[in-house]
Amino acid sequence: MKILVINSGSSSLKYQLFDMEKEHVLAKGLCDRIGIQNSFIKQTYNNGSEFIKETELKDHNDAIKEVINALTDKEHGVIESMDEISSVGHRVVHGGERFYKSVIIDRDVLNTIEECIELAPLHNGPNMIGIKACKKLMPNVPMVAVFDTAFHQTMPKKAFLYALPYSLYEKNGVRRYGFHGTSHKYVAERAAVMLNRPIEELKIVTCHLGNGSSICAVKHGKSVDTSMGYTPLAGVPMGTRCGSIDPAIVISLIEHDKYDSSMLNELLNKKSGVLGISGISSDFRDLDEAAEKGNERAELALEIFAYQVRKYIGAYAAAMGGIDALVFTAGIGENNQGLRKRVVTGLEFLGVEIDDDKNSQRGGEKDISTDQARVRTLVISTNEELAIARETLKLVGNR
Ligand code: ADP
Repeated sequence: MKILVINSGSSSLKYQLFDMEKEHVLAKGLCDRIGIQNSFIKQTYNNGSEFIKETELKDHNDAIKEVINALTDKEHGVIESMDEISSVGHRVVHGGERFYKSVIIDRDVLNTIEECIELAPLHNGPNMIGIKACKKLMPNVPMVAVFDTAFHQTMPKKAFLYALPYSLYEKNGVRRYGFHGTSHKYVAERAAVMLNRPIEELKIVTCHLGNGSSICAVKHGKSVDTSMGYTPLAGVPMGTRCGSIDPAIVISLIEHDKYDSSMLNELLNKKSGVLGISGISSDFRDLDEAAEKGNERAELALEIFAYQVRKYIGAYAAAMGGIDALVFTAGIGENNQGLRKRVVTGLEFLGVEIDDDKNSQRGGEKDISTDQARVRTLVISTNEELAIARETLKLVGNR
């Protein structure tokens, strides 16, 4: 049973081929610079070796063709023919209110995903192109859509509605949707396994900290609140995104500085966050290095980020009436021990206490709490691709 997982972006397409018998990755890869000059496909294998081919990728159809070629190539491939691929799981960013779980893709589902493009033009458009290209080249293979928003559809109205005229929700779908749902669900479920307790008993705060970051309150296995909102711009500050700010700042920029929507988009999505504060980089490794050398704005960016994450943890403990576990995941959450330390410092009153030795060990899933801490603090590697492959298997079955 082999499942291909596709994550299609505007100019890149990532893929992983799983053998689901042992949930083992046969190969993974990236088609980059689709529709731009110097496009290429890079396929990597479990032993760390890689195969790179520079080739013209005019569009996503070309990219999918190259993925199939690379996977079935006599020399570099891992399967004999594409008939071995029993189903395809697609990451779709926005499922609106219609999709509260993964679905098999049919015409009706395609139409609804298309309707959601308006809600997430940067993401759903490219996701849709990827699905269509796959359907064209693999017309008889069942495909599943797994939505980043689906896990958060359990949020109550008090958590997802903005204090705007209710008609904006009814007519335009303006509400909090939340993102990174596949990751928050995956790590919350792993946390329950690590703690050897049923997830239905647990109150967990999951912190997905990467280039994009979001925090989620997972009560008894369900998302009850999350920091991203109508779009992935809200919540904590991120690499280049501003996170939540006073919306009147936008009005002021329009009125006094003559910003238009594309300038605002550029400012808030690309030039803000820790990059904007530090003026150095959006990458936390660069900020750590600069802060260590005494750069004050890099230090300030790290402090602001950690402070905002800490505030969400406190808020979500209050929202759930307690907290049993705190989970760190994604690039920063998994790898940056200094940042984890900054975030939890000051949360001792909640029962969060970490052991510096355990926190400094690299790699793997780990419980970094002190023995006596009331709250277990866990580091868990997220695996959105595996979660998508599992969802696909669950829906399509062993066909
Ligand atoms: P994305 O949201 O694009 O998936 P990632 O989850 O890869 O982003 O996170 C990127 C961030 O993770 C960067 O700020 C980077 O500094 C940090 N990061 C990734 N790997 C490491 C590492 N080995 N050590 C420290 N920080 C890391």
